[in-house]
Amino acid sequence: MPITRRSFVKTLAVLPLARFERAEPDLILHNGLITTLHGALPEASAVAIREGRILAVGDDADLLALATARTRRIDLGRKRVLPGFIDAHAHPEWGGLYALKYVACDKDSIGQIQAVLRARAAATPGGQWVRGYLYDDGKTPRPLTRADLDAAVPNHPVLVEHRGGHTGFMNSRAFERSGVTSGTADPPGGTYERDARGELDGRVADKALAAVLAKIPDELTREDHRRGVALSSKLYASHGITSACEADAQPAGLQAYQDARDSGELRFRVYCMMDVGALDRYIAAGLHTGFGDVMVRIGAIKQFADGSISERTAWLAAPYEGMGDYSGLEVGTRESLYENSRKAWLAGFQLATHANGERAIERMLGIYEQLEREFPRRDPRFRLEHCTVVTPELITRIKALGAIPIPFSGYVNFHGDVLHFYGEERAQRMFAYRSFLDAGLRPPCASDYTASPPDPMLWLYSMTTRKDPSGHVWGESQRITVAEALRAATLDGAYASFEEHEKGSLEPGKLADLVVLEADPLTLPPEAWLAIKVQRTMLAGNWVYEA
Ligand SMILES: [Zn+2]
Repeated sequence: MPITRRSFVKTLAVLPLARFERAEPDLILHNGLITTLHGALPEASAVAIREGRILAVGDDADLLALATARTRRIDLGRKRVLPGFIDAHAHPEWGGLYALKYVACDKDSIGQIQAVLRARAAATPGGQWVRGYLYDDGKTPRPLTRADLDAAVPNHPVLVEHRGGHTGFMNSRAFERSGVTSGTADPPGGTYERDARGELDGRVADKALAAVLAKIPDELTREDHRRGVALSSKLYASHGITSACEADAQPAGLQAYQDARDSGELRFRVYCMMDVGALDRYIAAGLHTGFGDVMVRIGAIKQFADGSISERTAWLAAPYEGMGDYSGLEVGTRESLYENSRKAWLAGFQLATHANGERAIERMLGIYEQLEREFPRRDPRFRLEHCTVVTPELITRIKALGAIPIPFSGYVNFHGDVLHFYGEERAQRMFAYRSFLDAGLRPPCASDYTASPPDPMLWLYSMTTRKDPSGHVWGESQRITVAEALRAATLDGAYASFEEHEKGSLEPGKLADLVVLEADPLTLPPEAWLAIKVQRTMLAGNWVYEA
């Protein structure tokens, strides 16, 4: 059916086709329930795609009229379609690598964890490390101890990392190998934890974990890193996530993303925030934020100002509940954070700093404000990674600076089991989406995978209900609507990486990245969302996942 001038003009009026005016579509998706996240046409039923980008969005009649003999047509069967999700802070490269190499310890009993470690040790030559990952001490009756690990694996060094990545649990062999004894002093920003008798209890936190990791030989190959990215790519595509911000890439990680792209295994776009440790090398190579292309791009420089929420090492203004006067770990001095920030800033990098507790956030705001005074730059988009525990005063300063808080989106639900360490009052100021939105900020969504699963349905549920798995509500005042949550999960993720003109909504000219859901979170009650599966995920006009 030839397009009438009238219907064509109507399409133009709704969403201008701009430079694609005379192009014919490669593909038209029709008969869908399409949420565009574009103000001029929030709901549509069809999308036309050409060369990996969106040509037009509208109703079936208007868009099917654009089809030629070469155009493929796909009937969406009235399924809900959303822009591809964006995970604005995650560690997919390490997540994939750990899954390839290490023992999954996401079990709810100590005995099960001992069993999987024992089995791995039996297949590992004596003296070599046995490494575990995905452990969550909020989900076992008590935390793992050195004695538990010695009982299971006496003859190999064992390190089991918490899924949050800031703490590890070690056996006696591992301490021997690391040269750490009960007499070893804690490093600044870290702890080798001790029991009541002053003996090492097995848990090591933040800079102490970093010191241990630095002593373990790196036997990972370039091939391993690529395979790690490829594995996480499948996971991300299965959840409808088409872009992620890799939150702490080493040079090997950046290479891994490029290798995976070259081998056709990279199924999401990645904005690589580069680890500050190699900053001088990036600067010497002339790199800064924005270098790359729509698949692999260099992002911010990443630093750490404190510890973790799920592992209770965040640097808080007041002590944790039930932990004496302990209020977390200060990771990194003001001097080092300022010096690195300044150097990266002057080289043209966006800045991104891990800051969970009020004291860490306050410190980074002070540094960002100082840089803005000393070396002003237009549209800096300073990032506060996690920015978990806030106050009205901190939010006012974040707003004045135009900084971006990047909260954990699924934590109230996924890590609800440790929120009692923070308490009811503080929970009203944590993962503060409502306060951020009311202040006019643009917080995106983030899993911090492996810290929580990269699952957008978990994000939506957690942000709108604030319910933990038992049904308890933490911080009800921070609930947001599903429409607000969807915007955070898409457009505002793009904004955090300066890519809001490329993605985050379905509109002409943007990348053809979208997800088709099996069931519709916009009509089902929240209690049904966690079970909603992705039917298909599209990246640049190609299906990269089909259930
Ligand atoms: Zn992280």
